[in-house]
Amino acid sequence: MTYTIERITALIGARRYGRTNASIVFLLTDSRSLCFAEETLFFAIKTMSNDGSRYLSDLYKRGVRNFVVNEVPENYEVLYPNSNFLKVSNTLDALQRLAERHRDEFAIPVIGITGSNGKTMVKEWIYQLLSPSLIVTRSPRSYNSQTGVPLSVWLLTNNTQLGVFEAGISEPGEMDSLRDIIQPTIGILTTIGDAHQENFTSLEEKCNEKLKLFTDSKLLIYNEDDSLVKRCVEQFSFKGQRFSLSRQNEKATLYVSNVLKNNTDSVISYSYKGVEGSYKIPFIDEASIEDSIECLAVGLYLGIDKNAIEERMTSLEPVAMRLEVKEGRHDCTLINDSYNSDINSLDIALDFMSRRPDAKERQRVLILSDIYQTGKPLSQLYSEVSALMKQRGVDQFIGIGPEICAHQDCFQLPNSSFFITVQDFIDSELFSNLRDNIILLKGARRFGFDKITELLVKKVHETTLEVNLSALVQNLNFYRSYLKQDTKLVCMIKANGYGSGAVEVAKTLQDHRVDYLAVAVADEGVALRKHGVTANVMIMNPEMSSFKTIFDYELEPEVYSFRLLEALIEEAEKEGITQCPIHIKLDTGMHRLGFDPIHDMERLISILKKHQNTIIPRSVFSHFVGSDSDNFDDFSAQQFSLFDKASKQLQAAFTHHILRHIDNSAGILHFPDRQLDMCRLGLGLYGINSRDNQIINNVCSLRTTILQMHKIGRNETVGYSRKGTVERETIVAAIPIGYADGLDRRLGNRNCYCLVNGHKAPYLGNICMDVAMIDVTDIPCKEGDSVEIFGDKLPVTVLSDTLGTIPYEVLTSISERVKRVYFQD
Ligand SMILES: *Cc1c(COP(=O)(O)O)cnc(C)c1O
Repeated sequence: MTYTIERITALIGARRYGRTNASIVFLLTDSRSLCFAEETLFFAIKTMSNDGSRYLSDLYKRGVRNFVVNEVPENYEVLYPNSNFLKVSNTLDALQRLAERHRDEFAIPVIGITGSNGKTMVKEWIYQLLSPSLIVTRSPRSYNSQTGVPLSVWLLTNNTQLGVFEAGISEPGEMDSLRDIIQPTIGILTTIGDAHQENFTSLEEKCNEKLKLFTDSKLLIYNEDDSLVKRCVEQFSFKGQRFSLSRQNEKATLYVSNVLKNNTDSVISYSYKGVEGSYKIPFIDEASIEDSIECLAVGLYLGIDKNAIEERMTSLEPVAMRLEVKEGRHDCTLINDSYNSDINSLDIALDFMSRRPDAKERQRVLILSDIYQTGKPLSQLYSEVSALMKQRGVDQFIGIGPEICAHQDCFQLPNSSFFITVQDFIDSELFSNLRDNIILLKGARRFGFDKITELLVKKVHETTLEVNLSALVQNLNFYRSYLKQDTKLVCMIKANGYGSGAVEVAKTLQDHRVDYLAVAVADEGVALRKHGVTANVMIMNPEMSSFKTIFDYELEPEVYSFRLLEALIEEAEKEGITQCPIHIKLDTGMHRLGFDPIHDMERLISILKKHQNTIIPRSVFSHFVGSDSDNFDDFSAQQFSLFDKASKQLQAAFTHHILRHIDNSAGILHFPDRQLDMCRLGLGLYGINSRDNQIINNVCSLRTTILQMHKIGRNETVGYSRKGTVERETIVAAIPIGYADGLDRRLGNRNCYCLVNGHKAPYLGNICMDVAMIDVTDIPCKEGDSVEIFGDKLPVTVLSDTLGTIPYEVLTSISERVKRVYFQD
């Protein structure tokens, strides 16, 4: 749903500075999550650790024009032209107010879930069980905080038939605002436990605070077997209907008469309104059983067919947990868990570690930070941690943080070490001696555990590829000079940045504010994220198996077929992803990948519309087959007209703006009037103009050095199979580069040459795997001298022309073992 900036100004009672027209679709509080800049309204919220107003100028540079602030920046008309600042006294309140007004628009059932544990699981399972019958909008992941709830509720659209939102609180007084935003008609109270206890004097106080979510609900679902919950619910002044669950009391609204646990599943029998039923779930743990009963209650109450629910129960899927497993250095395996640092999630993580296939044979190490927010006396807490470790078979313990250090006595494990800070640990001998372990890293973000992971994760011949980043930027600017001011740019850094190394190139481009980076596969995108690239990243060739990675790292997949689209939607729903941006590829003539711009559009649009909450088309594009040659101008025109029509048809079905793009590097030069919203710059960035095969600014130079020199007599031969016969006395130089480095074997036997001190030195004989021989007879040189395979003085196109191929192939063939060296001049 779209709101004008005027309407939002009125709804939140703001004072507006700036008079630019704007339609808002997306709300943003974390600048890292920016996606659709033009239609985004950023709330500069101040938290304990950060202040959103720090990111105004960065966001402005990335295209955001609408901001809600406490204070309007001085000189905003000059520093932030064409933007709107909505000034309010409290930006968090404004966000909440806006979500509340948005919620007012909907007269649909809305489920509110609160409790200490199981909220996310119950929410996801309700979704799994009910979404075949109803269009459900739910909180993404566990967005349940004072900012997460309004952002979740904002996702409600006109299509929504049921909303499911979780609410989490950590101190008294927080629930009132969440209730006003969610306005649940149906309430679910899951278990009440220790999490976030420190701000409450008793569990009872916490339970009562949580119940406030349901003051105005029509129905409240709760487990009456929990005496605390039962007591609090009975005392709660509540006009709605109470829906009790029990395994003991036959008079409960939903009575669970039996729970039978098998090896891998459980069968649960119940009666509701005098009707008996039973269902099976593929889980045997108590939490899953309890959660499934709550979900059943919701389904029955909403009048969903009992048999349908029972049937769907059998295929409930586990909710993704945030445990990442990575290969570490020195044969270590890392399990990274930055999920809530509480004792329950520690137990889950330890359990996970103990179930790794090779856990029995290897040392299990736990690295743990101080645990916050339990409300328990610390000595009790850490004694419990110690007991847990013993039970879960931890061999070595490393505690980090002042509290853990102060409670060393609680830890019984003989092999325990303690450090005040992460840095102390990293500097220790212990750290450098970790070998062949399974390491569970469980630490609150604020301790900087990321740094440990970074150092422990695995990282990896004198031939180098020198990459001139200044030249890269000059090429970028050269192509930008053909673009209108507001045309966006995607930079293609697929195939490891056309061979030059994706990470450095990406960082450079990010600094120069390109709108998008594009890589081929998800792993390339992950590599960028791991190296701190925060720009938008498009994945041109997403594998079916990589969707989870794509979500985890906030990458944006290209989608070119129904098969891919449907698989993506399914996975996104399973992971609780909302509004994942995707890029739609149309096949206008390449006949490689893409939807048919005529026959597929209707079906495509209907699927996209139906799943708008899950995925959202960010752009639509196609690719010219021959923009580098005038010979194909007619065909290009035909491609363009097909694309133009189909992309407009797609846009017409949506209210948010969908970026259209078709020009590649050659297209930017040849068809500047077809630049539409965005262009995709590839080869040109790396300095090659594919229209005339000329170098713009050379970026990559492949260099090596002379290893050894020999003088050989007439009629002797060089290399394998005696291919290189010399007709005169010759000086042969061996250089450490071969076909395994990407030096094509067909360049050998004098088909091509390299440069030694500026002179052409032909390749002699067959090029070997790791070494090549060159003729330096008339060239002043010595061992150790530098050799240019291609670069500033020997254009890469000389090699590609010799080989009868294109420069793309030569550049992308340079193997990974060739070290990339970056410089700026
Ligand atoms: C690689 C690629 C480009 C870039 O093409 P260049 O000719 O290198 O500019 C553009 N679009 C798509 C879809 C591509 O795969």
